[in-house]
Parts: sequence; structure tokens; C-alpha cells
Amino acid sequence: MTRQQHVWNGMLVPYITHWTAESVPQPKLIRLIARGGIGYFDEEPVTERRREALRHRSGLAQGRGRPDFARVNSLRQKRAMRCNLCQVCGEEATLADGRKLHLMAAATAIGEGETAAAPPLHPVCALESIENCRLLRRNHSAALVEYSPLWGVAGVLHDPVTLAPLPNPGRRPDDLANVHVADKAIRWTLANFTVISLHGVSGVSGKAWSPWRPGRRTTDTDGPAMSPP
Ligand SMILES: [Zn+2]
Repeated sequence: MTRQQHVWNGMLVPYITHWTAESVPQPKLIRLIARGGIGYFDEEPVTERRREALRHRSGLAQGRGRPDFARVNSLRQKRAMRCNLCQVCGEEATLADGRKLHLMAAATAIGEGETAAAPPLHPVCALESIENCRLLRRNHSAALVEYSPLWGVAGVLHDPVTLAPLPNPGRRPDDLANVHVADKAIRWTLANFTVISLHGVSGVSGKAWSPWRPGRRTTDTDGPAMSPP
């Protein structure tokens, strides 16, 4: 456990997990006449807007109420992406060789240039997540990444005329639209999460996990040519 993590009912709660006390009322959207796009009447420009995108309003009260493991706190996700923090323990996640590990609940390998809304994580934290998460146990792909610049946001597009939310492009009701920073639609997007793109990708599977498994020495020769943090 780190200072960024809390325990609930004997379970370690990941750093980016949303807590019920962090739910706050969402303000009514207004149309910004001069610059175009959506905004809040009482918008806080430092925390609620980045690269033209208005952020979904979120509170910060980590450890209060109960954790909602199905939801991610928008502010901590943004901080983790910006500062390369581990999504599980909240500590710096850059590895000794400068790369970062990314993990996805997907059956297909992480591709070069693929976008991601999930922050990086330590290999040991990734193994812990795979062990504790049914979705990840069923399917996951992992990769070491050399470079992960800001790509855009994941959020809900709004109609420029009515300001009503537009249907999401995904299959599930809670799917979000990925909008690139250079796309003018970003001004009409209520952004939940920061999205990065992954470059210099090397897949991690099978024996490549060995150096970080409990009881294994970190000098095993069947692991990747890098040192754990
Ligand atoms: Zn970690």
C-alpha cells in the first residue's frame, strides 16, 4: 500500500478509482459565443479546461464514502496521465529504462500508435490487477511503451445548436467518443478522460512477466532487457 492508496473492506483500492463522495452535481452547459463550444457559467479554467476541451466536473475526496470500482475519477486520471503515475498505486510509473508499461482488457495486442485512456502502471501492480480483475483475467494485452504524447480526450460530444448530448459511437451506453486535440469537435466535447497515443511499443506476454512475479529473481534472462522500478 502507498500513501496514494486506500483500503476498503480489506481490499486495496486503485489510485484512480472513483469514490462516492467525489460525485458532484454537473452544471448546466452554456454556449461560448466568442470562442465557440461549450462551457460552464462558473468554469474553473485551470482544472476544467485543457486544449479547448471542457472537463466533466468531478470532486476530489479520495478515501471518503465507498469506492466505485466501475468508475474512474476524472481528475486523478488526468493527473496520472500528465505525471506518468501508476493507475494502481499512484506513484511514478516510469521504469528504469525510461519506458512505461500499459495494460488493456483486450484480446488483441497493443498496436503502434494505439490510443489509451488508462494510465501506465508498474509491472507488479499490473500483475496484481490481472489477478484481482475478472475482465483482465479473461483477456488482457500489455506493452512497454517508449513515448506517449497527449492525443485528445474521451468524452461526450454535444450538439452545437441544442447543446444536447449526441449519441455515443460505441456499442455500450457508457462508451465515450475519442476526439483528437486538433479536431474542432473538441470544443463541443464534455471530456471525461485524457487520451494518449502509444509509440515505440513492445508487447509483454508469457515469460516476459517473469522478472516481476513473486519469488523470481529480477536478473532472470527470460524477461525483457530492462530493470523493474
Ligand atoms: Zn504501481
